Amino acid sequence: CYRKGGYHAVRVGDTFSGGRYVAQRKLGWGQFSTVWLAYDTQTSKYVALKIQKSAPEFAQSALHEIQVLSTLTENDPENKKCVIRLLDHFKHTGPNGQHLCMVLEFLGDSILQLIRYNRYKGLPLNKVREICKCILTALDYIHRELNILHTDLKPENILLISTINPSKDPIKSKTEPVLNKVEGNVNGGVALNAIEKKLKQRAKRAVARISARRISMGGVKAEKAERCVDGIDFRCKVVDFGNACWASAPMAEEIQTRQYRAPEVVLQSGYSFAVDMWSFACTAFELATGEMMFAPKPGQGFSEDEDHLALMMELLGKIPRKIAVGGLRSKEYFDRYGDLKRIRRIKNTPLNRLLSDKFKLSVNDAREFADFLIPILDFAPENRPTAEQCLKHPWLNKTPESGIDKVDGVG
Ligand code: ADP
Ligand code: MG
Repeated sequence: CYRKGGYHAVRVGDTFSGGRYVAQRKLGWGQFSTVWLAYDTQTSKYVALKIQKSAPEFAQSALHEIQVLSTLTENDPENKKCVIRLLDHFKHTGPNGQHLCMVLEFLGDSILQLIRYNRYKGLPLNKVREICKCILTALDYIHRELNILHTDLKPENILLISTINPSKDPIKSKTEPVLNKVEGNVNGGVALNAIEKKLKQRAKRAVARISARRISMGGVKAEKAERCVDGIDFRCKVVDFGNACWASAPMAEEIQTRQYRAPEVVLQSGYSFAVDMWSFACTAFELATGEMMFAPKPGQGFSEDEDHLALMMELLGKIPRKIAVGGLRSKEYFDRYGDLKRIRRIKNTPLNRLLSDKFKLSVNDAREFADFLIPILDFAPENRPTAEQCLKHPWLNKTPESGIDKVDGVG
């Protein structure tokens, strides 16, 4: 919706902030924004330019995001906390109104794309560990030091750190209008004149160059990426703080993306930092297996929420009665004994069994990984370990050479 109050239509070569940033290509988009790769002519570096829709409600949420991101960046001067950095922000006036723009450090693909490149088979456990350490470092930082909840943690919002800084031949400025997108086609079917064609080719070359240098990032074929998965230094950062809030001022009742939503949010029993820990465990499982831990669907005679609660109990055992009946929405789903009203006969498969039987982890790996995850999936949020506690867990600090792996199959 490139209209009043909507997205700002960007063309390759468009400039922002008095000519400082030059748009190169589109990186992605969300509900409220489009994100562009841009060249910063002042620092000669690439950045990600997040351009918010212009309507007042979007501007409001962008201001909030800027406030959170500034806090994250200011309190991490050494850039060690695995969270996205805000480099600059400004207002840009276009035909659809005034847009708040955030200049972010340029990162690579999300770990969801990584899972896709790996054909949903799951990543090797030593890679999962590295990614888990980054996520937990970020969570420990925002929870313990800043009192901030992310509330939308999921593979899509964990981006790999880009190993490239393409410094040669960026598109420096616009000479003629070109198609909005290099891949895909937002403007649709417009005949290209000679200059547009030339610019488009140039943009394509730039994309190709970037792709060639990126390891397992946009534009790389699956097989190639699959071979790459082993060679990547798996450092990543947590992004998208658009829904983050201070623990002292929770914003919405319904938070988190469905599949990563904690039981206390489904039941509306109040929430805090432990919701991010739940999403973290779901994310770690997905990294290791390539499949979502919980993918609820509404069915005949029951809702998506009820299916979700049933799936949780299949994997984690029965929700303790006190917790089951303790939320604002409990009465809709549970009887007074703490049994689901509309879904009966729940068959429990313990996590370690699922990991070894369905996902073919060795018995030892499955047990150790489950031992790490199960406490984080406690139905009682106050019993879940904090990010700080998780960081000390032996599973995270285990290396393949530590000997524990080699015992597998012997004992
Ligand atoms: P929204 O808040 O509108 O959902 P996001 O912050 O999630 O926007 O960004 C939308 C998409 O843009 C992301 O899914 C990702 O593909 C891309 N993106 C966002 N930030 C960056 C960045 N710093 N570097 C590279 N790509 C990014
Ligand atoms: Mg998003």
